[in-house]
This record gives sequence, C-alpha cells and structure tokens, in this order.
Amino acid sequence: AELDTLDIIVLAAILLGTVAYFTKGKLWGVTKDPYANSFANANGVKAGKTRNIVEKLEESGKNCIILYGSQTGTAEDYASRLAKEGKSRFGLETMVADLEDYDYENLDAIPSDKVVMFVLATYGEGEPTDNAVDFYEFITAEGVSFSEGNDPALGNLNYVAFGLGNNTYEHYNSMVRNVNKALEKLGAHRIGDAGEGDDGAGTMEEDFLAWKDPMWKALQEKMGLEEREAVYEPIFGITEREGLTKDSPEVYVGEPNKMHLDGTAKGPFNAHNPYIAPIHKSYELFSVKDRNCLHMDIDISASNLTYQTGDHIAVWPTNAGEEVDRFMDVLDLTDKRHNVISVKALEPTAKVPFPTPTTFDAIVRYHMEICAPVSRQFLATLAAFAPDEESKAEMTKLGGDKDYFHHKVNVHHLNIARVLQAVGKGKKWSNVPFSALIEGINKLQPRYYSISSSSLEQPKMISITAVVESQMLPGRDDPFQGVATNYLLALKQKQNGDPDPTPFGLSYELMGPRNKYTGIHVPVHVRHSNFKLPSDPTKPIICVGPGTGVAPMRGFVRERRKMIENGQNVGKAILFFGCRKRAEDFLYEKEWEEAKAVMGDKFELVTAFSREGNKKVYVQHRLKERAKEINELIEKKAYFYVCGDAANMAREVNTVLGQILAEQRGIPEAKAEEIVKNMRAANQYQEDVW
Ligand code: FAD
Repeated sequence: AELDTLDIIVLAAILLGTVAYFTKGKLWGVTKDPYANSFANANGVKAGKTRNIVEKLEESGKNCIILYGSQTGTAEDYASRLAKEGKSRFGLETMVADLEDYDYENLDAIPSDKVVMFVLATYGEGEPTDNAVDFYEFITAEGVSFSEGNDPALGNLNYVAFGLGNNTYEHYNSMVRNVNKALEKLGAHRIGDAGEGDDGAGTMEEDFLAWKDPMWKALQEKMGLEEREAVYEPIFGITEREGLTKDSPEVYVGEPNKMHLDGTAKGPFNAHNPYIAPIHKSYELFSVKDRNCLHMDIDISASNLTYQTGDHIAVWPTNAGEEVDRFMDVLDLTDKRHNVISVKALEPTAKVPFPTPTTFDAIVRYHMEICAPVSRQFLATLAAFAPDEESKAEMTKLGGDKDYFHHKVNVHHLNIARVLQAVGKGKKWSNVPFSALIEGINKLQPRYYSISSSSLEQPKMISITAVVESQMLPGRDDPFQGVATNYLLALKQKQNGDPDPTPFGLSYELMGPRNKYTGIHVPVHVRHSNFKLPSDPTKPIICVGPGTGVAPMRGFVRERRKMIENGQNVGKAILFFGCRKRAEDFLYEKEWEEAKAVMGDKFELVTAFSREGNKKVYVQHRLKERAKEINELIEKKAYFYVCGDAANMAREVNTVLGQILAEQRGIPEAKAEEIVKNMRAANQYQEDVW
C-alpha cells in the first residue's frame, strides 16, 4: 500500500503543480479546498507526516497523546473516547495516534507537562497487535536507550495505561502488563492504575468505565486540570455536496478506497484494501433446518494473495438493509440518505474513517458497525440530543446505571437504532449531529475465519467453515443475527439459485457498490497466523476441534492426506471432533471417511456427540479416554492443536491435558501443568481460539 499511496501523492503533487503552472498560481486556493485532502485523510496518510512524536505534539499544540495498539478496533475506539472526554471535560488538547505511526527513541524528550496514554490490546497468545509490534519490541528490549540519555531514562514521562485482554487466554493482558513494567523500570510516572479490561468475562466496557473515572481524577490532580461542564464539540464537519449525486463518478458509494472507486484495484490486498473475490462454491454443512453452517470456497487465483494452511481469512461484511433502514429512520436520515456529503476532520489529528465524498447510505451500510453492542457512555452522550425530556432522562439513566443498562439493552442484544427506537417511543432523533454518530460508532470490522483448506492441496482456493449467528432472545420477536455470517448465508443462497435471498428476513446489497460485484463475490484479505503444522511432517499431530473449531483441522488433515498421495512419509493425525448429534451437525462426515480410506492408520477421527446419550459427552471426555495414547504421542513429540471456543472448551482441554500427563507419568499436577506451559512456549501446543 505504501507505494500506491506514494504514487497518489506524487500524482497529486504533479497535478497541483500543473494547475498552478497553467493558472499562474491563481488557483492556488485549491489547496485550501476542504475536500482536497479527503482521500489522504481517509487512508490515514498525510503528506510529509512526521514520525517524531515530540515534534508532532509541539506543532499541533497538544498536551495529551493517546496511542493505541488495536487489532479489531476496540482499543482504537477506547482511545478516541479518552481523547474526546479529555477534551470536553478537562480542556486537554488531545490527539489519538496509531502506535505504528511514530518512533519512540525520543519518548524521553516529551516534557513533563504532557501526558501519554497507552491503550493496548493483547492479541492471541499474549502477542502485541500488528500495529504495536515495533513499539513493544523497542520498549521491552534489554538495553533500550533514548535520545536524551536522562537518568532515569523516562523520568520526565507521565503516562496512563489501559489494556484490553481476555482472561481465557494464558497470557491475560500481557501487553499492558509488560509495557507498564517496562515503563516503570525506565522511571516513567504512571497516573492512576494500569487498567485491565476482560473480554473473556464479557466485562470489557464496564471495566473500562470503572477504570477511567479514578484515572481522570488522578490526572486532574497531577496536571492541575479543572473540570468543566462537558460540551459536545463535533470532530467532523459534514458538508452537503449539492453538485454531486450518488451516480457521480467521484462519489464513494461503498468502495473501500480510491483504487476500488476507479476500478483499478490491485494488490497488495490487506486490511486497508480488500480483494473482491469470487466465491467458487458454497454449501450447507448442517442437516437441520433451524441452524446453518456454511462451507465456502473462495477463489484467489486472479489475485496475488497467498496463504498457508492454518492462516485466517478476513471477510468484509455489509450491513443488512433492514438494519440500515431502521438506523436511517430513527435518526431521520431517510429522506437524505442518498445525498452526497463530504466529511472532514475539524481536528488536524483526527481521521475520517471512510473515503469521501460519499452518501449517508454508503457510510451506514458499508462502514459503520451499527449492529454491535452499544456503549453506555455513548448513550449518555446522545442524551443531549434526545427528542424530548422523557427520552433524555431515560438515556441519562441508561448511561449512568450499569444494571439498568444491562437489563434493558444488553440482554436483548439491542443495537443503537433499536435502543433509540425504544427510548424515543417512535419519535425521531433528528437533533443528533452526524459527527456524533461517526465518533460514537465503530468502523465496520472484517470478521476472521480460520482457513479450512490446505494450501498444499489448493493454493489458490481458500475454504471457510462458518456457523451462522442467529438466536432467539427473550424480549424480542425477531432473532438476533450476526452481521457477517448472515451476509455470507445470503451469498450462499443466491449462488444456489435464490435470486433474491432474505435469510431470516434480512436482505443485503449482494451486488456491492455500483453493482460491481457481479456474480457471487465477497471482499476479503488474508491474515497470516502462527497456527502451523510441524515443519517435520513425520511428527504426529493431535487436533482438538469441536464445532467450527474443526476448520483449521480440516486443513491440516487434508494437507497430510495430500502429502501421503505425493508419496511422503507422515506422522499420525488424530482428530477429536465434537458436536450435538451425528445426524444434525456432524461437519464433513463424508470427507473424514474419504481421508481414512487414503490415510489408513495415519488418520483417526474420535467423535463426541453431546446430545445423543443421556450423558453429555464432549471432546475433553474423549481425550481422557485416550490418555495413554496421548501421552505416548506427546513423548514422541506430537504437536497438540486446539481450535474453537476460547471461553470454556480451550481452557478445559488445557487442564485435561495436564491431568493426563500427571496421571500417565505419575507426576504432580503442578509439574504436568509446567510441561504443558513449556509445550506452549515451544509451539508444541498451539491454540486458534475465539
Ligand atoms: P456479529 O454480528 O459480529 O456478532 C457476534 C457476537 O457479538 C454475537 O454472538 C454477540 O455475542 C455479540 N453481539 C453482536 N451484536 C451485539 C449486540 N447488539 N448486543 C450484544 N451482543 C452483541 N467463526 C466461524 O464460524 N468459523 C471459523 O473458522 C472462525 N474462525 C475465527 C478465527 C479467528 C481468529 C477469530 C477471531 C474468529 C473466528 N470466528 C470463526 C468467529 C468469526 O470471526 C465471527 O465472530 C463470527 O462468524 C460471528 O460474526 P458475525 O458478524 O456473524 O456476528
């Protein structure tokens, strides 16, 4: 992407130069055109931007920088919320920044009247998020040194820290913990506690809210800040573009970037630039009516995308039409939904999270996570714009009362538009500034899927195995439906002959912006993972993958099978698979039989059906039954893989393995747990859990 943006910047410079030449400078005003920058902004690229954090703070007059390490957007969202709150409550001059965008050698040159906030997500096995890798390596390095050479090195630095983690993982919140430790060691001053949010317990938002109030108090004292009545100040300016319609060629109606708009999309395809991939084939894997699990083969042969067995593919979803309509309706945007607007950051350090000029419809449909859980704080912000006093009071109550909010909003999985409908009792929320919605609602995130094919067998065809999220909840008469999986279900239905599919009553713009996705297409990119087969194929593998956790295991088994067909010598693969009933949700039943026929004693499938007998049987039970063999395989340096539900299954499997080793080897459980830990450290125990 670097080169492409560079190209564009160079082209833009040449173009401006040319205009200047022909107009003898008369048109130089164009550089001040508020829209001239919109593309660069939308992609977070500002020509000539500095990587010097001190310089940046100086030139932009900021005294508080919030640096985020984010993978799925939550940390980034929290960073923006801290920035807004710091500004509106305490008059801090805040800016939000991606950790990746700065260098850190001169962290020691940040004056002590400024504060640096770190909002750090921990990813996977205690890893930094992709954008935080360099920073993390730098700050935790043994002999880290800084430009000023102070003693202690970071004696001038004031910082605040919050981590986003998941207690079902071994290395809970290790990012914030390790960064905090490193900063303390370097003599930096922390203000307030280092907060920890727990996604595993489902309390992330509440943990964040509970952490930030005492933090603000401590910061207030430290910096001598005065709290003022919070006033809403928009971060984005919205301008209607009278001369343009949604059919004008320069208007984005859902295209993710300029290349897509111009029809010149090319790689590298990544988290900023999806590949619009044809779906080669799609079919249903369950044999029951009320639940769905999709198999899809996604063709990447016309792209330069590559993958390795065990990687993840990211699917870029589109919101359901009915939810877009609901949002438009309750916010009184329906009449102007196709009007063209430009959105511009009023703050030099803010980023417009989508390309403009565009339409309200395109923003809401393609770029906003409008169906996600609602934040309490956002409801409190919106109270100021309520259509009447009663709604205002109710919003304030929802925003302030954790239990009330949980009971009214969370248990029903209401999204923002549903909350506004319920609170406003049918009144329209015409006063909400659109900027507040851009600020308060996350960017629509791609969803990850563990690739279920083998790159040895089909290097240019990526398979996914996705269970469709749809559940009836108390207090609702329609099911709660997941965003991406119902979009995929609609694509599957269309591919299999339904011209106008509406899974569970939802419809999608399957043809994409400007009907560019002719045929059956889905925007994707690939994310490389560490979940990998042993490099020595003669090593045995033990795979535990109940439900859709079987996805990467299918890839592994198919890879080993292909190796056998190629005449290679491979170790045994034993797969523990679990589901409810053989006749309902037994994924890939036929394929396992075929694999067995080719692989003989090199493959064994062990099944656990939880709803067949009168006792529930899970993969953990089957593991225990096979304790002796598992121990022997591990002694032969077998690799152990777990995929699927992080909350319960993965943790229990970890425990069970410890018990197996303890019992089989006659050693104390603590010792056995130590062995499992070491297996993890040596990549002999790998998890792919969500
Ligand atoms: P979403 O709309 O994102 O909803 C997901 C969940 O969020 C809901 O179940 C609910 O608990 C919560 N939620 C959403 N909206 C609300 C609301 N308004 N109020 C309260 N709660 C809400 N899945 C697979 O099926 N197969 C795989 O192979 C697979 N591999 C994965 C690999 C990785 C590395 C990761 C991170 C995830 C993987 N997943 C996989 C999960 C997948 O990415 C998606 O999370 C899943 O498909 C649901 O997506 P969705 O958009 O349909 O649901």
